[in-house]
Amino acid sequence: MISKCPGQDTRFWKPDDVYSVECPKCGNSVEFFKDDIRRRCKKCGHMFINPRLNLGCARWCQYADQCVGAIGKEEFKEIITLAMKEYFEGDQERIDNALKVLEFAEKILEKEEGNPKVVIAAAILYEIGVHEAERKPESAKGSNQEKDSLPIVRGILERSGSKKDVIEEVCQMIEGHHHPEKIDTLNRKIVHDAVQLVNFRGEKDVEDKGKQKKIIKKVLLTPAGKKMAEEIYNLNIV
Ligand SMILES: [Zn+2]
Repeated sequence: MISKCPGQDTRFWKPDDVYSVECPKCGNSVEFFKDDIRRRCKKCGHMFINPRLNLGCARWCQYADQCVGAIGKEEFKEIITLAMKEYFEGDQERIDNALKVLEFAEKILEKEEGNPKVVIAAAILYEIGVHEAERKPESAKGSNQEKDSLPIVRGILERSGSKKDVIEEVCQMIEGHHHPEKIDTLNRKIVHDAVQLVNFRGEKDVEDKGKQKKIIKKVLLTPAGKKMAEEIYNLNIV
């Protein structure tokens, strides 16, 4: 190959561009090159994502489509999920919640024509906005709390090699999360519905089925989201 991404050319690498990482399953030391997306542990066979992966170069590099372009949806999802888990550090409730939102968002994506990368990233990362807002003192809380999380979200997306338009859209979605009047795109509607479905699941045993039907019609914004809510409640809305 004559033309090559300069970042991938090992002649320009520094010594710490090759490093050892502990296998999350067995603790064995696994050697990673900085541009390895994943490696398999030789001892236990576990395959895992490079925890120090940084694909930020892809944002400007002219060769990005040849290297980062190879990152599929599953890998992108894994990279963003890993960053989310790292951020929430053992806060299992928030991690589980984000994963549930992701699960619903992906199910809705099977039926609706949203942009998978945008929806997946916003579904996994939307709670980081809530979390950042909670860390602020009561007096400092305003209507634009989600803004505080944007540098974190942006950093995660840059590391994943996301393109500028994806980063901007996800940031706008998270910033506008608590502003229903801003839910004006299909991608937003999908993430909104996924969040609502997770909330609904916690209220499964509501007695008043008639009221429940009305809430579903009013709150859920996509046909697929409405249908899934009905399935959760075993309702048949005509
Ligand atoms: Zn292992």
